[in-house]
Amino acid sequence: MLTGAGVSTDSGIPDFRGPNGVWTKNPDAQKLFDIDAYLGDPEVRHRSWLARRRNPAWGAEPNAAHLSLVELEGRGALRALVTQNIDRLHQKAGSSPDLVLELHGNMVEVVCTACGTGSLTQDALDRVDAGEADPRCLACGGIVKTATVMFGQPLDPTVLDAATQAAADCEWFVAVGTSLRVHPAAGLCDVAVRNGARLAIVNADPTPYDHLAARVVREPIGTALSALLAELVP
Ligand SMILES: [Zn+2]
Repeated sequence: MLTGAGVSTDSGIPDFRGPNGVWTKNPDAQKLFDIDAYLGDPEVRHRSWLARRRNPAWGAEPNAAHLSLVELEGRGALRALVTQNIDRLHQKAGSSPDLVLELHGNMVEVVCTACGTGSLTQDALDRVDAGEADPRCLACGGIVKTATVMFGQPLDPTVLDAATQAAADCEWFVAVGTSLRVHPAAGLCDVAVRNGARLAIVNADPTPYDHLAARVVREPIGTALSALLAELVP
């Protein structure tokens, strides 16, 4: 299972790349997600903290799509839940943390770019609320960022390896709410098909992998996903 931004839009979290996406509307916002711009410019960091504070994901609740994956796991039919989302809604819905592979990291934790010390984003945001423009690492004074993968940063090889192994070892590889245009996430479809899995795609818009898929569903994810899963795993 691979999930993307489309799985969280019903929870009120905007899709960055979609037609109404944050980046599509405001290309300058992309700077906030670029590691070089972030490390090199205190102003970019300050804007990033303010953006993190007002991220709609903080108050978001899981939706029907998240819950249908919890149900699939309960039936013992979920090999892994690879996600491009950083919002932690799969875990909040009740998916086992052990099964969730966060390809792009998460926004709930922060990490120091100098010494690697981790802590909670909420603690850093409290410091922003208290007046700090750019809260630094309490251990070493280094620049702190959320534990997400920014543009210009590699994916965590351990997470990517586990995702690749799962893709190579499944009957159905289901890609939900992802445009399948961002690599290496999209390449997991190739891995799955090459190893004999059938590919199912649930997404509002066409993807570059539709021609490889045994099933393509374009209906709203909330209802379509649970219907599809009931059909694939009776
Ligand atoms: Zn540090």
